[in-house]
Amino acid sequence: MQSNISQQFSKALDDLQQWKNSFGAFSLDESLQVYPDTSAKVFNELIDRLKGNFPFHHPVYAGQMLKSPHDIAWAAYALASSINPNNHALDGGPPSSEMEKEIMPMLAKFFGYGDTFLGHLTSSGTIGNLEALWIARKLHPAKKIAFSSNAHYTHGRMCEVLGIESETIPITPDGKFDFSTIEASEIGTLVVTLGTTGLGEVEPLDQALAWAREHNIRIHIDAAYGGFFRCLKDSELIDGTSWKLMQEADSIVVDPHKHGLQPYGCGAVIFKDPAVGRFYKHDSPYTYFTSDDLHLGEISLECSRAGAAAVAFWATLQCFPLEENSGFGPILAKCRKAAIYGYSLIVDSKKLKAYKKPELDILTYFPIQETTKSISQISTLSRKVFQKGMEDQSFYLSLYKVSTEDFTRLHPEFEPDEKTVTILRSVLMRPEHHDFIPELIRRIENAI
Ligand SMILES: *Cc1c(COP(=O)(O)O)cnc(C)c1O
Repeated sequence: MQSNISQQFSKALDDLQQWKNSFGAFSLDESLQVYPDTSAKVFNELIDRLKGNFPFHHPVYAGQMLKSPHDIAWAAYALASSINPNNHALDGGPPSSEMEKEIMPMLAKFFGYGDTFLGHLTSSGTIGNLEALWIARKLHPAKKIAFSSNAHYTHGRMCEVLGIESETIPITPDGKFDFSTIEASEIGTLVVTLGTTGLGEVEPLDQALAWAREHNIRIHIDAAYGGFFRCLKDSELIDGTSWKLMQEADSIVVDPHKHGLQPYGCGAVIFKDPAVGRFYKHDSPYTYFTSDDLHLGEISLECSRAGAAAVAFWATLQCFPLEENSGFGPILAKCRKAAIYGYSLIVDSKKLKAYKKPELDILTYFPIQETTKSISQISTLSRKVFQKGMEDQSFYLSLYKVSTEDFTRLHPEFEPDEKTVTILRSVLMRPEHHDFIPELIRRIENAI
C-alpha cells in the first residue's frame, strides 16, 4: 500500500470508530465474541489460503481480465463496509446513496449523455446487461435481441432468463457485422460490444447505428470491459470512431470492477431516456420511508446492493477523473501502449507469433518451434508454456481457444489437423505492464 494512503487509512479507521462510539458505550454481546486463539488461528489459515491466489496485483500476472483494486478503492470499501450501508434505499445508506447519485452523472457525461438519463450501479456487468435487456423486452415484447458471435456469453443466457428470443449476427473477417441474413423487422434491440472479452475488439458502432436507425432498432452498448477506453477517443492510441458515438446508443453498461480500479461488486447501467424508469415501479411496504427523494432501489432490478461499492468508486473518481490527460486517461494509455509495445516485440520474435493485432490492451499470440507445422502442435506448446510460467512463478498467462476456421484465415501455413486451436492470451490491464513487457516476453520465450 502506498505509505500516505496506509497512514491515512489507519487514521480514518480510528475516526470512524470514534463516530461509532459517540452513540454511547455498549459491550459486544457474549455470543459474538471470538477467542484470541481462535481469531489468531483463523488469520493464519486465511493468509495461508489467500496466498493460493495468482499474483493479480503484479505485472507478472498477464493472464485473465482481473487485477487488484487501487488502494484508495479498497481502503474506502473497507471503511464503508465496516458500517455496511445498503444502496437499495436511502434508509439503508444515505451518504453512500448520495455518492452513487454523484457518480452517475459523471459516468453519463463521460459517455456523452445529457443531464437527463437514468442510471445506477449494479453488482456486475451481467446484472447491468440483464437490466438493459429487460428494458429491451419491455419496449419490444415481441421482438428479438441481436448480438454478434463475439458478444459475452451471458447475453444468450440472459435472453433465456427473460424468455426472449435472441439472434446471433455473424462477424465478417474485417470485423464488421454481417447483417445480410438478418430479418431486421424481427429485431428490437441490437447489442454492440465495445471491447470484446476475448480479444478486446471494438465492434463498429457506426455501421450498427446506420443499420439500426434504418430499421427502427434500439442499440445497447456492452462496454463492461472496454468502457473506460473512451478516455482515449481523441488520442492517436486507438481508433476513436465507435467510442465517439456512444451517446447515440439507448443504453450502456460499464464495469468499474474491470478497468475502473474497483474491487468486485461494481457494474453500472445507464439509459439515455429516463422515461424507462416507469418499468421499474414497484410498491414495497418496508423500504422507502425517510424521504420522497429518489431511492436507488426504485430504479434498479436488484434489491440489496453494497453501498461500499459506491463509496469506493466515488473515492477513486476523486483521485482519478475520467479525462484523457489526467486520472483514467494516462492509466488506460499506458495499458494500450503496453499492448502495442508487446505486439511489436512478438512480431520481431522467432519463438512467438502474434495471432491478431490488438485493438485495446489484450494480446493474443502463440509459441512456435522450428518443428511446428500443425495447429495441434501449437495447442500443445501453448499449454506447455502456460503451465511452465505458473510452475516457475515467472509469468501467468491465459489460454484462449480459437476455431480452426478463424485461425487458418490468418495463419494458413499451419496444418489444420484439429477443430480448434489453443493459443496464449494476455490482458495487459496494469499500467506497470508497459515497462515489464520486454521482460515478460523474454521469460515466455525462455519457456518454449
Ligand atoms: C466481463 C464482461 C461481462 C460480464 O460482466 P461481469 O461483471 O463479469 O458480470 C459482460 N460483457 C463484457 C463485454 C465483459 O467483458
